[in-house]
Amino acid sequence: MVATIYIEGQIADHPRTEDIIRRFPKAERIMCERYSQVFNPKAQNFRAQKQNPALILAKKHKGFVLPTPPGYGVGGQPNYYFSHMLNCIYDCRYCFLQGMYSSAHYVVFVNYEDFASEIIEYAEQQKDESPWFFSGYDCDSLAFEPVTGFINHMLNVFSEIPNAHLEIRTKSTQIRCLLNSKPLSNVVVAFSFTPDDFSRRLEFGVPAVDKRIMAMQQLQQQGWSVGLRFDPMISYHNYQHSYRALFEKIFSRLDSETIHSVSMGGFRMPKNFFKKIKKLYPEEPLYNLAMEDIQGMRCLSVSAEQDMFEFCKKQILSWIPETKLYYCDI
Ligand code: SF4
Repeated sequence: MVATIYIEGQIADHPRTEDIIRRFPKAERIMCERYSQVFNPKAQNFRAQKQNPALILAKKHKGFVLPTPPGYGVGGQPNYYFSHMLNCIYDCRYCFLQGMYSSAHYVVFVNYEDFASEIIEYAEQQKDESPWFFSGYDCDSLAFEPVTGFINHMLNVFSEIPNAHLEIRTKSTQIRCLLNSKPLSNVVVAFSFTPDDFSRRLEFGVPAVDKRIMAMQQLQQQGWSVGLRFDPMISYHNYQHSYRALFEKIFSRLDSETIHSVSMGGFRMPKNFFKKIKKLYPEEPLYNLAMEDIQGMRCLSVSAEQDMFEFCKKQILSWIPETKLYYCDI
C-alpha cells in the first residue's frame, strides 16, 4: 500500500517512527530534513500522486490545537480542532484537501505527546467550561488508525480530562481501538454519510453505508455515544428520494437514545480550492452545479440549499428531537 516512506531526520529514532516503518518492510526509505520539502512544492499533480501516495513521517512543532472556524460545532464552546495527519487514504471527489494541498502524500506527525500536552493545557485553562476538540479535520480520524494508533493514544488522554470532549469524525470502520476500550462519556464517534448512490459515485475507497451503520451499531452496543454528520449535503437530481432512504436506513437501525448529535452542512469550499479542484476534475457534475460566492466560499445556491435543508430537517426530526440537531455553516 505504501511504497515510499520519507522520514524526517529529527524523528528517525522515535519509537513510533520505528513502529510505523516496521509495518511496511518493503517500502523504500528516504531521509529528509523537513517534510515540507517533499509535501509543499507547488508543481505536483495531486491526482497523479493519489494513485500511489508516499508516507511522510514528521514532527509537528507548533499549532497542535487550533480554533475551529465559526459555525463548526455541536452545541459546546469553545471548539478546537487538531490533525495528527494531513491527507486521507480515501478519495472523495468533494474533499477540500485536494484544493488545500499540492501533494496527495500522507503526512503523519509522530509526536502525539505534544498534541496531548496542548489539549490538556487548554482543558485545564478552561476547567469551568466544556471545550470540544475535533479530530478528523485534515484527514479521516480512524482510516489509518491500524498504522498510527493515534486515537488509541488520545482515548487515554481524554479519560483523564473529563471536562473536555473529543469528537472522532470518520467514514471508517476501523473501530477496533474503541471496541477494545471502556466507553468514555466525553467522547463521540461521529460518522459522516451521504446517500448510497452519491457515495458509490463520489467517495472512492470509503466503506459502504451499510458497513458504517454496522460499525455504529457495534459501538452503541458497547456503550459509546455516536454522532451523525450529513456534511456536505448536495442537492443533486432526485436528492429527496436518496436522502429519505438514507435516513430511514440509518435511524431505523440505531438506538436514538445514544445518538449524541446530528449535524447538517451544505456544500461549501474556499473559492481558490474550488478552482483548483475543478481543474483536476473538469467533467465532474458536482463542480458544475449552480453555485454562489458567499464570503469567499463557493456554495450551493442559497435557494437550493434552503429547500434541501427544510426537506432533510423534516425527515431527521421524525427520528430525533430538535435539541440534537445542529447546522454547520460557513
Ligand atoms: S473521508 Fe473525509 S478526509 Fe477523507 S477523502 Fe473523504 S472527505 Fe476527504
